[in-house]
Amino acid sequence: MTTMQRLFGTFGVRGVANKELTPNLALELGQALAINLGGGGRVAIGRDNRTSGEMLEQALVAGLNAGGCDVLKPGLTPTPVLSFATRHFSCDAGVMITASHNPAEYNGIKFWDNEGAGFQRDRENQIERIISKGFKKVVWHKIGRVEEADALSPYMDAVLKRVPKFDRGLKVVVDCANAVGNLVTPKLLAELGCRVVSINSQLDGTFPGRKLETVPENLGELAKIVVGCKADLGVAQDGDGDRTIIVDERGEIISGDRVFALVTLHYLRGRNKPKILTTVATSAVLDDVASKLGGEVVRTRVGEPELIAEFRRGGGDIAGEENGGVIFPDWLLCRDGIMTAIQFIEALEKTNLKTSELNLTLPTYFQVKLRVKCPNEMKQKVLNRLAKKFSGYQIDHKDGLRINFEDGWLLLRPSGTEPIFRCFAEATTGERARELAALGIKELKTATRRGS
Ligand code: MG
Repeated sequence: MTTMQRLFGTFGVRGVANKELTPNLALELGQALAINLGGGGRVAIGRDNRTSGEMLEQALVAGLNAGGCDVLKPGLTPTPVLSFATRHFSCDAGVMITASHNPAEYNGIKFWDNEGAGFQRDRENQIERIISKGFKKVVWHKIGRVEEADALSPYMDAVLKRVPKFDRGLKVVVDCANAVGNLVTPKLLAELGCRVVSINSQLDGTFPGRKLETVPENLGELAKIVVGCKADLGVAQDGDGDRTIIVDERGEIISGDRVFALVTLHYLRGRNKPKILTTVATSAVLDDVASKLGGEVVRTRVGEPELIAEFRRGGGDIAGEENGGVIFPDWLLCRDGIMTAIQFIEALEKTNLKTSELNLTLPTYFQVKLRVKCPNEMKQKVLNRLAKKFSGYQIDHKDGLRINFEDGWLLLRPSGTEPIFRCFAEATTGERARELAALGIKELKTATRRGS
């Protein structure tokens, strides 16, 4: 490749397998990573259970070996387990082959550093530059080797060492969507003392059970089963197990930012002035949690790498996103949906409340999430116009515009991956949230139209 369009999106390389994400590209990425590591060292490679996973793994392994790196292969793992394995086995880097919540035809490749955190943008840029320049391969006796490894057992052992057994014997329905979360989450929850019912528990890379994204419209079956079998809660994970959403005992879905908030409240209780890292897209309920804890909220741009960068810059006790991805930095520098589920249940254990009652311990907010089409090349122009339009308000400019009102906020943010603008509104009543969203959509449409 000579002229490069950016390979990496907001986090890693993502595309339809064998179309955008080919074995050739995986091979190049493997070779480029080997060069980035100085032509040696050891790399852990994990993958989710998509049908294209093994093909891409083989190409990556070949690229890394050809560039002089040894490869450790945990094989099928959730993403947090790959992050854990990279650090646990003292590897110089990790690679996770996953497209997270995207449909079965997609796949993706994400790089991890030796501390188990995703590569930052500057390191991704280094990889891109290496690919655009071409490679030198190592001499035959420096070609790397391949070794299999079990990462699931050490991960589970480490969790069990860290988390005390539960007493309540809560009944939990776990839905990992026929994906790799099934390798760990149901087993660990059972080991910790929950009564576990698993649905969509067989691994199937075509994901026949449900769509992988943990949003309410995909979780109807889980909600029904939680109510039907009188369970205390439901746990839903995305395709690579780095995100968790909870369903309460009445079948109501608890959104990602509330799961994050409830976990934070109980995980950080007792810490001195804790610092909560989150993004501009997350609910004000995090501010309520911070004031209960006597701590503070630091908001960043959207995306896991942004949270990690902020953690490394200024520290923090927990970090999380509105989609239900939570990072426990004293555990892993990676979103961990398994630990999130465990800590949510730990909060139920500590409070002895029902799931719906626990949810009610925090103020209720109403959210509306919409999108408007906008060609990529127009995004900056539209953003400038919106900034002008809302210049009388208190605005956070970190990532798009977060416009703060007395009784809510409105986020107008260009997507980093799709030709759209996102419009999120939150307020203390549903009516006000809809009103703010309507205002956002109206201004977005006006700003988009004028420029075309
Ligand atoms: Mg994911």
